[in-house]
Amino acid sequence: MIQKQHYRTAALVSVFVLMCMFRLWYTIGIIFAAGLILTLKDRRRSFCVDYCPMATVQQAVYRQKDPGHDRLLALLQRRWFKVLVAIGFWGYLIAVLILFRGDPQLLWSSLLSLMLGSMAIALILQSLVRKRVWCSTICPYGKVLEQVVTIGRRSVIKS
Ligand code: SF4
Repeated sequence: MIQKQHYRTAALVSVFVLMCMFRLWYTIGIIFAAGLILTLKDRRRSFCVDYCPMATVQQAVYRQKDPGHDRLLALLQRRWFKVLVAIGFWGYLIAVLILFRGDPQLLWSSLLSLMLGSMAIALILQSLVRKRVWCSTICPYGKVLEQVVTIGRRSVIKS
């Protein structure tokens, strides 16, 4: 448990150093690649459980008081809403990569906005609904990892 805490802290510090100190716009790509490799290797969402910096921050600020807000939770659980969030997230990411491909500074600031914006939404939702509700309902990258695990399990069953 303590070792896992060290992993989480190390991952969070690494992302901070790469994105905020070295200002590497492709930090988000490194995070996504690491998550994908870990998920493929372990055949479960070990990145989400043990390493994701977004999860670490949500855990750190959680105050063990879930206000509930059932209507908001119901909205977050709607399929169409998840699809809308995914389109917004991946659409923004792809548009930024294409439009600002020649300008590392603009790429960096746009991707930092995406990361901080997602984090702010995750923390607001957690304060309004329940612990890590972003992760359990709408996280666009979490959904990708979920699909990777499902496909991996199906291929194991078939073989
Ligand atoms: S669901 Fe998303 S935010 Fe949550 S731990 Fe997984 S990748 Fe991170």
